[in-house]
Amino acid sequence: MRFDVLTLFPEMIQNYCSQSIIKRAIEANVIEIKTINPRDYTLDKHKKVDDTPYGGGAGMVLMAQPYVDAYESVEKLANSKTIMLTPQGKPLTDEVVNELSNNEQLILLCGHYEGFDERIRDIIKPEEISIGDFVLTGGELPALCVIDSVSRKLEGTLGKIESAEEDSFANGLLEYPHYTKPREYRGLKVPEVLLNGNHAEINKFRYEQQLERTKIRRPDLFEKYNQENNVTKN
Ligand code: SAM
Repeated sequence: MRFDVLTLFPEMIQNYCSQSIIKRAIEANVIEIKTINPRDYTLDKHKKVDDTPYGGGAGMVLMAQPYVDAYESVEKLANSKTIMLTPQGKPLTDEVVNELSNNEQLILLCGHYEGFDERIRDIIKPEEISIGDFVLTGGELPALCVIDSVSRKLEGTLGKIESAEEDSFANGLLEYPHYTKPREYRGLKVPEVLLNGNHAEINKFRYEQQLERTKIRRPDLFEKYNQENNVTKN
């Protein structure tokens, strides 16, 4: 999969992607990440990419020309989707991540300051995605959330050791609790069932923990899971 990220701060993207699992995915050619800086496309002699809003108000607005020209310079692959990161978009969920992972290319538009001149939306007509009901200073962290979560779904990114199959949301529930060595820490013991090697019992324990956790922490997900799986309530 190829990610083309339009950003005024390419180092933010490059720094994150030069570490850990995402770095390995790039080295293994599972993903490719390119950054495109709209500042390189501005026709303004002072390299300006933002200006004050018409009608007044605080903050600076990203100008349409550098963004649209930068976007139009990106080579579009056959199965490509363009996403604008904005708090006004649809929420990024595991379901959305799964859908996005079927594309060959994601073009990610990062805003900054007050956000985009509306004509960038009108011309590019991107899908809009939000990472939550809060406002960040820029779209780089949200773009990295997309890159990271989508990359995890691609074959070859995670080793067997980091498998995503039992992660939270994969089966509609939150994941069960994990324990590792030592068996006892500050008087807290690993549940006995995890030590007996009986996989049927371990699976039963973990499934019950998933139900319990989800019921308490995310009643909305629990309700949905019950409806989809016809689980009787108790
Ligand atoms: N004035 C905009 C508004 O109220 O909708 C917010 C602009 S925000 C300060 C600057 C940029 O950060 C946005 O253009 C967007 O790219 C990014 N951003 C901020 N919060 C975000 C979120 N929750 N999800 C996705 N992108 C976000």
